[in-house]
Amino acid sequence: MDLSTPLQYVKGIGPARGEMLAAKGLLTVNDLLYYAPFRYEDRRNVKTIAELAPGEKAAVVARISSARLSGYRRRGPGLFEATLQDGSGRSLQARWFHGEHYATSLLPETRLALFGKVELDHVRGDRLMIQPEIEILSDSEDEDEILHTGRIVAVYEAAGKVSARVFRMLINRVLKDIEMPEDPLPPSVLARTALPGLGTAIEEVHSPPPEADIRLLNEFRTPAQVRFMFDEFFWLECGLTLKKSKAKSADGIAFTVTERARQQIKAMLPFKPTKAQRRVMQEIADDMKRPHPMNRLLQGDVGSGKTIVAAQAAVIAAENGFQSAVLAPTEILATQHYGSFKKLLEPLGYVVAPLTGSASSREKTQIKNLIARGMINVAVGTHALIQEDVAFAKLGLAIVDEQHRFGVRQRLELIKKGVEPDVLVMTATPIPRTLALTLYGDLDVSTIDELPPGRRPIVTKHVPESKAENVYRFVAQQVSAGRQAYFVYPVVEDTETAAAKAAEHMFEHLAKEVFPSLRVGLLHGKLSPEEKETAMANFKSGMTNILVATTVIEVGVDVPNASVMVIEGAERFGLAQIHQLRGRVGRGPHQSYCILVTGKLNEIARERIRTLVDSSDGFYIAEMDLKLRGPGEFFGTKQSGIPGLRLADLMRDGDILAMARAEAQSLVSDPARASELRDAVRYIQGNWQRRYGLAQVG
Ligand code: ADP
Ligand code: MG
Repeated sequence: MDLSTPLQYVKGIGPARGEMLAAKGLLTVNDLLYYAPFRYEDRRNVKTIAELAPGEKAAVVARISSARLSGYRRRGPGLFEATLQDGSGRSLQARWFHGEHYATSLLPETRLALFGKVELDHVRGDRLMIQPEIEILSDSEDEDEILHTGRIVAVYEAAGKVSARVFRMLINRVLKDIEMPEDPLPPSVLARTALPGLGTAIEEVHSPPPEADIRLLNEFRTPAQVRFMFDEFFWLECGLTLKKSKAKSADGIAFTVTERARQQIKAMLPFKPTKAQRRVMQEIADDMKRPHPMNRLLQGDVGSGKTIVAAQAAVIAAENGFQSAVLAPTEILATQHYGSFKKLLEPLGYVVAPLTGSASSREKTQIKNLIARGMINVAVGTHALIQEDVAFAKLGLAIVDEQHRFGVRQRLELIKKGVEPDVLVMTATPIPRTLALTLYGDLDVSTIDELPPGRRPIVTKHVPESKAENVYRFVAQQVSAGRQAYFVYPVVEDTETAAAKAAEHMFEHLAKEVFPSLRVGLLHGKLSPEEKETAMANFKSGMTNILVATTVIEVGVDVPNASVMVIEGAERFGLAQIHQLRGRVGRGPHQSYCILVTGKLNEIARERIRTLVDSSDGFYIAEMDLKLRGPGEFFGTKQSGIPGLRLADLMRDGDILAMARAEAQSLVSDPARASELRDAVRYIQGNWQRRYGLAQVG
């Protein structure tokens, strides 16, 4: 057995458990050994029942002598009570509220390890534990018992039916059987960081020594845990840094910024660019001039003016005889982008063409044909379209509007289309710095951190559901003053169908009961492309006063006359998402409003809503969102979080990330350590590439 042995072949695992572990991403022995506990319990204080003193926290091992489930309060949750004995002459009572599920597992004669606070049962005079943590001990596995009590016990997140207890047993077995390989961290890095060796770290993370500091353990700050987190970050950063430096040395197009290009850009600008726009434009132009591919992220808050910056890059490409592709995540956004790029670029004599799914197949064939013959300067479409058979005559620049979908794969797809075209990724979801460094570690980052002058701040209000009438009245007033409004509904289940249903339901309600005299439109992801286009066009032209929508309008929709954004069930949205939605209003000269309607809120939800009411700074909001929800949920979807980080947490462990990043960069760029780097690359390829979803390192 070595680190790369598939888990299903490990004794005690087999195909069934193997599958449950695989579902958690645990495929090899290496994965299992890096599967760190998320919590530790101090069960060093193991006593007999007779020794238990009220007030202390302690662990006991005892056998159930009797147990019963009783309805505590009529029709209330069940109370499960057990009496336990251990031969010390005294009994222990244990009680669990909501304990119904124990009725089938905690039968008389079952041996248990219990851990909890000891109290006195005044009725019987026995010792009592309320809601203790327990583990069922089997009679046959006596040798394992020591693993579970009498020490600091590691608690693992269960994987299917593989419980924390089973994890302890499996990991212990593996640790006994495996010969620890040499520490994969480069010796120079080990020496510089003074981290413990991998063998020691693995040992101590899974079974902390008896004298370990339980508080430090639960704050994830013991040297062994820090070593684990360092590893997670270090190998990731090495991979990203290598990828980046490799891309930087690849052959690319060396664009020149000609005098004519300069003139064209000047002619295109309908206004004075902001300082931030000028700065990022310079960064992009400098990159384009280099004979290597550009891989740059352009981030900026909603309305910060990214489109025009991207259009300038397209002008440079066109002036060098190269085509540009503009790719958007949704059909609606692609259509919107097509409109903006056409408006900016056609007057200058460039040909802009749409590549959207709603076009007839004849039109599509025609446009693809023109693209292939080099007759089109800028093609605008959805991400899906590049995966089809679009052949560019001379693709030089890809502008990828990712919003908050981080499609690393798609970026790679695209690069296949041209000879290493320059890539500019745009995102309107400001990413906190720690995240940007890692998530986009292989990209250079340009940030527009300034809004064009003269924007009127949007007034954001929080209104409880019970006062929805006031909101309706306000919307009616705005409409009679000539404005328009959006109503957006949350996705309760995360499917388009469910979202569409909710929107349809509210559409009926608003159109028939609340605003019978107004014209209400409906827009959701389940409509056909023509229906969507009609709904958008009707709202844009003012035909409809109110647009009921799902988050399909989140990005790109631009109707300057709309002045109210009502977000129902706002507590269910991500902050970044609401901030995006809010960016749909305030695009014209009128004072605009964002109204967050919510149900009952818990403390965190209230804090989140308050953040939105108080701030219109996308970066601050993103930081808060991350802080309040954690990176997994921050992105809404699992695969867009950072894969491979199990123990490390980007918010909590920013210091470790910074250290790992510095070490990775210094290793990659130090010619004197080339042989260490070679070993590192081999190790990443064998052990981490899959876990991070990194494409080809080294
Ligand atoms: P983003 O894509 O970053 O959300 P846009 O590029 O759509 O923002 O720009 C938002 C609006 O601001 C557009 O109507 C655009 O014409 C306008 N705009 C962009 N830059 C400036 C500027 N420097 N001065 C005034 N208006 C600007
Ligand atoms: Mg935009």
